[in-house]
Amino acid sequence: MGIKKVLIFGGTHGNEWTGIYLIKKYSSLLKNEFKNLDLNFIHANPEAFVLNKRFKDEDLNRAFEFVEEKRPHSYENLRAKEIKSLILEEECFVIDLHTTTSNLGSTLIVTQDHPLNFILSSGVRDSKIIHSPDPEKKYLVSQSQTGVMIEVGPVAQGVLSAQVLHETLRILRELFTQISVKKPTQKNLEVYEEVEDVYYPQSAGSLDGYIHEGFQGRDFQEISGDYTPFRLFSGEEVKKQTQEILYPIFINEAAYYSSKLAFTMCRKKILNLDASQN
Ligand SMILES: [Zn+2]
Repeated sequence: MGIKKVLIFGGTHGNEWTGIYLIKKYSSLLKNEFKNLDLNFIHANPEAFVLNKRFKDEDLNRAFEFVEEKRPHSYENLRAKEIKSLILEEECFVIDLHTTTSNLGSTLIVTQDHPLNFILSSGVRDSKIIHSPDPEKKYLVSQSQTGVMIEVGPVAQGVLSAQVLHETLRILRELFTQISVKKPTQKNLEVYEEVEDVYYPQSAGSLDGYIHEGFQGRDFQEISGDYTPFRLFSGEEVKKQTQEILYPIFINEAAYYSSKLAFTMCRKKILNLDASQN
């Protein structure tokens, strides 16, 4: 596999400024550092950035499921069509930059099962890998068999944080290095597989509570048996139970309030990279 062309998308969500400023301000520097690669930096959703909102008409990072439909009212449908044809021009590796308000730390999200995605991710230090299969191909990154999302937090929407910017740059540099090397650095890779979405306590479409103070920020911390994710506005605690060891992610992500999604539970599994290359 001789992938040289890399498409790096920033600002798929218009209020996630890290990726936007990264592609605007660091592209020349990175192109100079990695002359062996054909790096292409693309602002995915400029109209949403102007509005400083996640999206203008529909979420661009879900819009690819409907990319073949005619939605003349939707700016993101138009962008999805343009971005998809750009990705399909020739073999490439796609990197889509995101941030989260949750205390997720540094993560790579793999949506397509191509072994290269796991091999390259395994070479990035101090970051976790989330396996989030996308059979409907709704995500931008899923338009290519080879690609990953970078997701770093916590940072508020419409805000730059030095740590989150530096971490995103570090991961990007390590991925570029891995694309040049393409050898698994670990034989057995730990990945987190999404198993369950957990929603806020609610009635008639309105929240009845919030993330419990003891649960806030505990992304990727092991949970088994009883735990207390919510507190109701009445003060009462809401307890839940797991039947196996699970790990919560995206706890209190701002963008998910519209769907009342509070966090997602993951199971840790070990992927054998030797086997996945066969
Ligand atoms: Zn995002």
